[in-house]
Amino acid sequence: MPSAGDHRYDVLIVGGGPSGASCAYWLAEAGWDVAVVEKKHFPREKTCGDGLTPRAVRQLADMGLEGALDGAHRYRGLRSVAFGRSLDLPWPKVPGFPTHGYTITRHDLDGLVVGRTERAGATVLQGTEALAPLDPEPAGGPGALAGCAGAVVATSGGGPAELRARYVVVADGANSRFGRALGTSRNREYPQGMALRGYYRSDRSGEDMIEGHLDIRDAAGNVVPGYGWVFPLGDGRVNVGVGLLSTDRRWKGLNTSRLMDAFVAQAGTAWGISPQAACGPATGGRLPMGMAVGPRTGENTLVVGDAGGLINPFNGEGIAYGYETGRLAAAFLGEALGGGGRERLEAYEAHLDATYGDYYRVGRAFVRLISDPRRMRLCVSTGMRSHAFMAQLLRIMANLMRPGPVGPAEVSYRAMVGTAKLLERLDPARWA
Ligand SMILES: Cc1cc2nc3c(=O)[nH]c(=O)nc-3n(C[C@H](O)[C@H](O)[C@H](O)COP(=O)(O)OP(=O)(O)OC[C@H]3O[C@@H](n4cnc5c(N)ncnc54)[C@H](O)[C@@H]3O)c2cc1C
Repeated sequence: MPSAGDHRYDVLIVGGGPSGASCAYWLAEAGWDVAVVEKKHFPREKTCGDGLTPRAVRQLADMGLEGALDGAHRYRGLRSVAFGRSLDLPWPKVPGFPTHGYTITRHDLDGLVVGRTERAGATVLQGTEALAPLDPEPAGGPGALAGCAGAVVATSGGGPAELRARYVVVADGANSRFGRALGTSRNREYPQGMALRGYYRSDRSGEDMIEGHLDIRDAAGNVVPGYGWVFPLGDGRVNVGVGLLSTDRRWKGLNTSRLMDAFVAQAGTAWGISPQAACGPATGGRLPMGMAVGPRTGENTLVVGDAGGLINPFNGEGIAYGYETGRLAAAFLGEALGGGGRERLEAYEAHLDATYGDYYRVGRAFVRLISDPRRMRLCVSTGMRSHAFMAQLLRIMANLMRPGPVGPAEVSYRAMVGTAKLLERLDPARWA
């Protein structure tokens, strides 16, 4: 099998989405010899709601890209809609984060970030699919990933070839075939999302709020499981989507296309959308969340982004966490390459746990609680009566809390962490 000469990269990254591109950017910035293999060619479509929160904007700004977002649609907060009520909740003021977000298609966004990565010095091999780990080494223990010497890759034009690297990062997204070949699996007790989205023409495409619906009703007015969104794109289109969580016991029998039809009919009047205004068929995908996928570290391997189940369970946001975990992985890989060795990879996992462990634990418990339709109705209908309450809840759900117990959101969140830990101790099968 041909190999790329004797060249051995410092790091090979499988996947050029948010997590892979960010990891490559930060490694290249630090001067390491890094290559990304991406099976598609940019710009490419990726099924997504296309919503960037202030958390994601912060990461893009840190990569020097906020100026490049000038052409994207800037918005100022979330409109929460449920049970006949509607509340406008601007993004909160939090040190280190902007008070605005953007909507931008992944077709445009991911190409921008990959371009930045290349300018920083990374090699990006587009149209190159990683078929399998090269020379896989068995995992060092039960909680570890297998190691490998790189990847066997196929280019769109040619046959298989070998790419060698000292370290390999798995960033191949929710389906993560490469990750599974190294030993990752999803904890099925943890919640997982399933969502569908489509683009529609709408006169309200220039709105400066994204909209989230917490109850969807069928034609007869009955509440159906799931949530919906309308994210204006500012270019004459809106991104419309529906989602459902695996912890909802009605998950298995539900047809997401029908859920989408019900939601388009429900939001249609307000947004001027209908099946005739669709720009194409809706497409769907899975949202592995709450740290559901592991292990995330091996002898010389690391997992980032969706491949590691790192989506925020509270709101299905994964782009920011892809950028953040890619950046974190780059920092620890830099230390490993600089002489720290594999212990620095273990420190990546410990750091992930310290940064997201409690938050995702609360998120998983929250998702389980609201998966019961009666509890969900009670919580939402009560919450929606108070703007102040929902504004604090938004802080928690978007992970935009201030450091320390300084306000109601932060104090409530600390109490939630305590409760989630207690529940986990009392009934680990249900709450862990
Ligand atoms: C319907 C839907 C709506 C969503 N809405 C939002 C939203 O509004 N905001 C938000 O923040 N998050 C949203 N998410 C989640 C978000 O899309 C993901 O969390 C995010 O894309 C994760 O980034 P990633 O880099 O880990 O994976 P991906 O973005 O999936 O990138 C993985 C990349 O790897 C490439 N690849 C895969 N296998 C290989 C291989 N073997 N070799 C080479 N390349 C490979 C793929 O082509 C892809 O480019 C949504 C998800 C869905 C399904």
